[in-house]
Amino acid sequence: MNEFSLLFQFDGPESEIQERVAAQTRLLRQGRGLYERGGLRNWHEMGNTCHADVVDGDNLVASVAVRMQERTITGIGCTCAQGEAPRCVHACAVCFRLFYRNRYSSKLNGKIVIPCEVSEMVDRCGARRLGAWVYGEDAARETALGLEHLIGLDEEYRYQRWLDGTHFGEILGNCIPSVEEEIDMDTDHWPDPKAPDLTADLPHGWFTLLEAMYEKSHDFEKLARLYAIYIARGKLAEDARYVDRLRWMLSETGQDDEIDAFLKELLQEILNQLMARPRLSDGDDRHNNAYECLLREYGTHEAIRAYLDAVEQMGHKE
Ligand SMILES: [Zn+2]
Repeated sequence: MNEFSLLFQFDGPESEIQERVAAQTRLLRQGRGLYERGGLRNWHEMGNTCHADVVDGDNLVASVAVRMQERTITGIGCTCAQGEAPRCVHACAVCFRLFYRNRYSSKLNGKIVIPCEVSEMVDRCGARRLGAWVYGEDAARETALGLEHLIGLDEEYRYQRWLDGTHFGEILGNCIPSVEEEIDMDTDHWPDPKAPDLTADLPHGWFTLLEAMYEKSHDFEKLARLYAIYIARGKLAEDARYVDRLRWMLSETGQDDEIDAFLKELLQEILNQLMARPRLSDGDDRHNNAYECLLREYGTHEAIRAYLDAVEQMGHKE
């Protein structure tokens, strides 16, 4: 699974190696983007084969089947490439999902897996903004407490305000804590099982710094609650990926009943919180891609109804 990028190499003369590598990189980037924006639907698995449909908006674009042996991909088929091995963005998106699931699922790994998404670059940003480097678990835990305080996440009602989008805008240094900052989509060396996933700036601003501290201190509970904020309030289409991240991190390990019961309860609590009210986006059309993705996977009838009503109501106002 880790080497699946090899499946998306292009053949051609030696003289065009640069072009071919560039084409492969482009394809991988597009495939990851497609997965992360929630472009895969109707995922199901039978035996060693998993199937998924690929959509663009509401239109079905292609259907992909991937066959696996253990954790190795042994065959790929896509309806866009009849009869030949597909080197398409659809198959690539499915491979990315398998790759991340393999990497982050607590269930598949038999222990709670804390994602390592935050990069060294975030460490550097953090050191610059906080004026010190943070080493070790204890320091990370303390720094996290400080950041929670600064951002306004240190009490349950303040956490709720972030989920609801009713927090106060307080300026820290020259920047207002928010869940939006630029994401670097120009990274060209994933999937790399050893490298952090986000070789990027701060996709969620100060929250990304906090995320780094939770990762370092292995605090899966707070990390999960942070992902919930990304799902409720994130501005990036790619925030849809946190639905999978939540599910995988809080999937049962099968090793310890007590921990597994806790994980299950935590997931349910977070889902209930998220679905307690519709989480519309602040953007123009009010659609929240990540939240819609959550509703497709976990939504109760009431929550889906409430969301659709809310979107429609906002449409009338404008
Ligand atoms: Zn295809």
